[in-house]
Amino acid sequence: MIVVMRAGARETEIQGVMARLEKEGFKVHLSRGALRTVIGAIGDKTRLEHHALEAMPGVEKVIPILKPYKLAAREFKPEDTVVEVGELKIGGPDLHIIAGPCAVESREQLLETAHAVREAGATMLRGGAFKPRTSPYSFQGLAEAGLELLAEAREETGLAIVTEVTDQTKAGAVAEVADVLQIGSRNMQNFALLKTVARLGKPVLLKRGLSATIEEWLLAAEYILAEGNFQVILCERGIRTFETFTRNTLDLSALAAVKQLSHLPVLADPSHGTGKKELVIPLARAAIAAGADGLLVEVHPQPENALSDGPQSLRPEEFASLVREVAAVGKVLGRSLGRVPA
Ligand code: PEP
Ligand code: MN
Repeated sequence: MIVVMRAGARETEIQGVMARLEKEGFKVHLSRGALRTVIGAIGDKTRLEHHALEAMPGVEKVIPILKPYKLAAREFKPEDTVVEVGELKIGGPDLHIIAGPCAVESREQLLETAHAVREAGATMLRGGAFKPRTSPYSFQGLAEAGLELLAEAREETGLAIVTEVTDQTKAGAVAEVADVLQIGSRNMQNFALLKTVARLGKPVLLKRGLSATIEEWLLAAEYILAEGNFQVILCERGIRTFETFTRNTLDLSALAAVKQLSHLPVLADPSHGTGKKELVIPLARAAIAAGADGLLVEVHPQPENALSDGPQSLRPEEFASLVREVAAVGKVLGRSLGRVPA
């Protein structure tokens, strides 16, 4: 529920309501607006009745959160969540671009890509060491050796590392290297994995499931928030539709809707969202125009030789064009590109 305090409520009144809620086992979040303070509270409603709260000094009204997701709802926390990855702030005024190969394939491939994307303006490096492939016969990733290469790339470039956790047994090893733990589409509803990853205490990038509704996606985020980890970044990566020309349909309506429904930052992945390199730049521009807080883009020095997702991977020089175009769109909206800290 949301406890709306009266305009001009005293600090002691606000603290009194917070203390009462916490005493009854509620999770609370305090938002101080210019005019009004609101307190989001999640817990067992039978422990503290509506009217008991409404009778407390300074309280104007108590409104239930009707949505099935609570902590992820904007009602619970009206202000935008800013996820901190080292000194980078995701979901603030600056746009952030995560770029790199689909899979870590070799030292040479990764380091060449890392230097190129950093030069072009990316702030984080992506690359899967553990790959969830549709076919068991496809390249499955370099596993632990891939993680070591990612650590080396961070050392060399200063880029933060975003990499996927595909299973609970490897979560700890991935978290030792990753700055952001990616949960892929195929695992969006792997609830045990969501809980394990949430408890590792690192930011989580949660991709939308291939056929997940907006509500299912936000409920998946709720699993992570409910573990006490609010460092969640959502990523729209395209959904299954009747269209077969594109690999997926990048759902920009969902992106804009989720920015309204939730306080969490939202990125767009135009690479998986289209599956076609020639569509990546136009959709990157569109996603930023629709309100994305940044992008996740696949880049490979030789897409024709990539072990996974070559057809949707940009060459470094194409990625540099993407960054320039996205920066121009961002400027119209008053948003600049984030930078790697010096
Ligand atoms: C990826 O980012 O390479 C990936 C596997 O993405 P998704 O989970 O969106 O398919
Ligand atoms: Mn990929």
